[in-house]
Amino acid sequence: MSHTRTRLVMGNWKMHGSLAANAALLDGLVAGAARAGGAQMAVCVPFPYLAQARDALADTPVSWGAQDVSVHTHGAYTGEVAPAMLADFGCAWALCGHSERRAMHGESSALVAAKAASALAAGLTPVVCVGETLADRDAGQVECVIGDQLDPVLALGAEALARMVIAYEPVWAIGTGRTATPEQAQAVHAFIRASLARHGAGQTRILYGGSVKAANAASLFAQPDIDGALVGGASLVADEFLDIAAAAA
Ligand code: PEP
Repeated sequence: MSHTRTRLVMGNWKMHGSLAANAALLDGLVAGAARAGGAQMAVCVPFPYLAQARDALADTPVSWGAQDVSVHTHGAYTGEVAPAMLADFGCAWALCGHSERRAMHGESSALVAAKAASALAAGLTPVVCVGETLADRDAGQVECVIGDQLDPVLALGAEALARMVIAYEPVWAIGTGRTATPEQAQAVHAFIRASLARHGAGQTRILYGGSVKAANAASLFAQPDIDGALVGGASLVADEFLDIAAAAA
């Protein structure tokens, strides 16, 4: 059966880059963008480089987004960036609740869901990240943990869910070189899909993230409920990222 949802391969540059390095990377992505075929390609860049991404990617098939967004619309929130500010100059995506933000900045699942709602209200597409730790997995708590992270997001309702993307990123696979097997990933994606379907949003895209590389992308994308990837380290190398996008084509 062919995949009915448009695949999305999204890079998360994290806190990497410089004007010169980004220019080379973005040029490389644009030059090879046709390799993604019918799949979408996007990059989430650090805030200072959003304008650079906008300019380099204008009128290309590669879209761009931010790695976080404020839950607030405006006001005395030093250091935060409002969703309307991102939307103001054409940003398409905002990651919400990446595990690094949950772990290092204490972001709760309620806050992550509120950020997703706030992003949606400004016309951005939130990419809501969920994932269990190795301790959770070893304790047999995967569905319980993912379910708890998803609950406040599901409560936003079908219309909101249809306009967002979910990314399943097991914490133990992020930046570790250790990928979930396609079967492990598919099992969690199927759980997430069933939860979304119960809330009227069974077609919301679900990305897998965690040490995705060209060498393992095709076997992940072969799974029925994996609709693409959120890619950290491998998104910093144009050819590697394009190879992943080509596997999604
Ligand atoms: C990520 O940052 O979302 C990620 C999945 O990183 P990596 O691909 O490096 O594991």
